Amino acid sequence: MEDCIFCKIAKGEIPSAKVFENDKLVAFNDINPKAKTHILIVPKKHIESVKHLEEADKELIGELFLVAKKIAEEKNLQGCKLVINVGREGGQIIDHLHLHLLSSDATGV
Ligand code: 5GP
Ligand code: ZN
Repeated sequence: MEDCIFCKIAKGEIPSAKVFENDKLVAFNDINPKAKTHILIVPKKHIESVKHLEEADKELIGELFLVAKKIAEEKNLQGCKLVINVGREGGQIIDHLHLHLLSSDATGV
């Protein structure tokens, strides 16, 4: 998707405060944080939303949650909320699947 902001962030074409990156996923601070810690975890593959997931994405979605766990551990968060908005009616604004990691614990970054 050429005009997708999260594809551009994943490719490094738009700057972001990255907190994690591997070959499949990237995580960065939300530009407009709704909690002390607000990180977005994003597959590099352009998937519009949960509605567009396919069988082949099973492993990727598993990794998405394992990265959330890893970040929460690394940041020493005592607890967090993991949220995926689905569709406009579900509050999704950016049409590239992403997991919000929100915590009232500060990360210190
Ligand atoms: P959604 O409502 O689609 O689930 O969440 C989109 C999130 O992306 C919002 O929390 C919004 O603040 C964040 N966001 C939108 N544009 C940018 C951007 O250019 N950079 C970063 N880091 N976050 C963004
Ligand atoms: Zn995209």
